[in-house]
Amino acid sequence: MKFVDEFRDAAAVRTLIEQIRATITRPWTIMEVCGGQTHTIVRYGLDELLPREVTLVHGPGCPVCVTPIEMIDFAIELSKRPGLTLCSFGDMLRVPGSTCDLFDARAAGADVRVVYSPLGALDLARREPSREVVFFAVGFETTAPTTAMAVHQAAHLKVPNFSVIAAHVRVPPAIEAILSSDDNRVQGFLAAGHVCTVMGIDEYRPLVQRFKVPIVVTGFEPVDLLQGVAMCVEQLEQGRAEVENQYARSVRNEGNVTARDLMAEVFTFVDRRWRGLDTLPKSAMGLSDHYAAYDAIRRFGLTQAPANEPIDCRAGEVLRGLLKPPQCPAFGSTCTPDRPLGAPMVSSEGACAAYFRAGRLAAAPSEAQ
Ligand code: SF4
Repeated sequence: MKFVDEFRDAAAVRTLIEQIRATITRPWTIMEVCGGQTHTIVRYGLDELLPREVTLVHGPGCPVCVTPIEMIDFAIELSKRPGLTLCSFGDMLRVPGSTCDLFDARAAGADVRVVYSPLGALDLARREPSREVVFFAVGFETTAPTTAMAVHQAAHLKVPNFSVIAAHVRVPPAIEAILSSDDNRVQGFLAAGHVCTVMGIDEYRPLVQRFKVPIVVTGFEPVDLLQGVAMCVEQLEQGRAEVENQYARSVRNEGNVTARDLMAEVFTFVDRRWRGLDTLPKSAMGLSDHYAAYDAIRRFGLTQAPANEPIDCRAGEVLRGLLKPPQCPAFGSTCTPDRPLGAPMVSSEGACAAYFRAGRLAAAPSEAQ
């Protein structure tokens, strides 16, 4: 298949590994900030193929995982209201809130439905005008345009019974938080190609200049990721720190201008707490005042109650790249995909789920605590 097979080619993988081996002279730690990239790295064992000088760590790249527990509690609370239908992507239904998850709420009688797009939820609202339909909108800049489109359409069509819990977040503030933290050990980043397909690459330049770390925009297949690592290692070895674009077949410098314009109209940047990273300024996308009527939190007067993170879950450290999933004592024992303690074991993009599915149940000797 064009654009897939050539990026999974074993000979190309071997060539890139040798190229990295020939370039590298000392240890470097590189972080990917994309759950899809994490899954490719783990599924294909790319981290185990690389020279031992390269340490790949997984960052806060799973949007379901970084969604704070209080937002999940909002969704669960709303779902229990009579006459209201709560819609979201399937991943969100099994993420534990403070006391239960959305599946539990559904089992107790709440009308919780899985949709495949925000426009699916809007369509439901139009077909069932007697019910309030709320879409729980989670994701990075990749999925935010589809939520923006649904809200814009709802306003255009004057659909009064549709609203969203806007929980979209942005990648650059997360990179800034990691680089600013006292315990940071990341020296270079692979940035997610699909995020940059929407947003372009210019918003990464101030980070590169301020922190002097290379950021390489990278795709999702094994050859993409190894090319991204090779470009990152080359910069590190040469003492350079630049934004480079490995995923040029999709990413333009300016991104998708139409999508960005729509997002700028519908959303405004707001502060948001991230699981594992505390509250990051301007790190999330809330609805702008012009679209306040479609903001479920304002419409239903939701207020934040104290939220309880599971005490045995070390998702915060996993999401900051400080801990590999098998290093969590609960991994594979009290926390499995069937009985998850935390979001990284639930989500299809979660790092803990990636390791569990790949059968990598023990920490590598170099990672053991
Ligand atoms: S293995 Fe489970 S308990 Fe441990 S960090 Fe991952 S999600 Fe949390």
